[in-house]
Amino acid sequence: MFVKLIILGPPGVGKGTYSTRLSKLLGIVKISTGDILREEVRKGSKLGRLVEKHLKEGTLVPDDIMVRIVEKRIRKAGSKGFILDGFPRTLEQAQALDKIVKIDAIIYLSMDEEILIERLLRRRVRKRCGAVYNVTDIRKVVNGVEYIFPPLLSQRRRICDLCGGPLVRREDDEPEVIRRRLKIYKRLSKPIINYYKTRGVPFIEICVNREPSIIVDRIVYRLKELNLI
Ligand code: ADP
Repeated sequence: MFVKLIILGPPGVGKGTYSTRLSKLLGIVKISTGDILREEVRKGSKLGRLVEKHLKEGTLVPDDIMVRIVEKRIRKAGSKGFILDGFPRTLEQAQALDKIVKIDAIIYLSMDEEILIERLLRRRVRKRCGAVYNVTDIRKVVNGVEYIFPPLLSQRRRICDLCGGPLVRREDDEPEVIRRRLKIYKRLSKPIINYYKTRGVPFIEICVNREPSIIVDRIVYRLKELNLI
């Protein structure tokens, strides 16, 4: 039986990057609710039309819709193991998840808000294939932590390395929407974190202050320590 993980953290911390890398490395399924919803909007499905406004404005899609989507994906993953990215986002979602499956560990990523905003404003994505790039070059100390992020550029400027399509800013990476997403995250993440801590679910807390390969090594080390992989 493979490992069942949740990746938690504020918008912009790199949940998408880490869940993608870990799913490949560990051979488990990545279940990203943001990606699932964006794909539905792109296809123009009934669900897509229902959630479009929430995505654009950075507000949350109702819990019952999200729980149904995730439950289906977890069933589909079967015994393969999975990493949940973007879910649970509310205490209600965490409680509903408990009834579906037992989680082995939470990977909790943190980053100073000043760095988060800087990175979100300069993130560029390829809508169709989901690739993410970033033009920020960060080297600074914030609240005693040294952050070093060289830019993650595509080889040909503003064109995706994977599919050759144009790179754009994600619709919800606008300053006002970023602030709203961070505010929602701050309010809702605390009860979720407390919920898992009181239930004794192993917590892997990692400060994301370096590039992905270094952070992935830190996560893998902690998963091994816990005998989960
Ligand atoms: P980020 O973490 O960068 O804000 P995501 O890609 O995880 O972005 O999610 C994008 C949007 O999709 C959210 O702002 C919200 O509208 C919707 N969404 C994703 N996951 C959930 C969820 N578990 N519950 C409610 N809404 C969600």
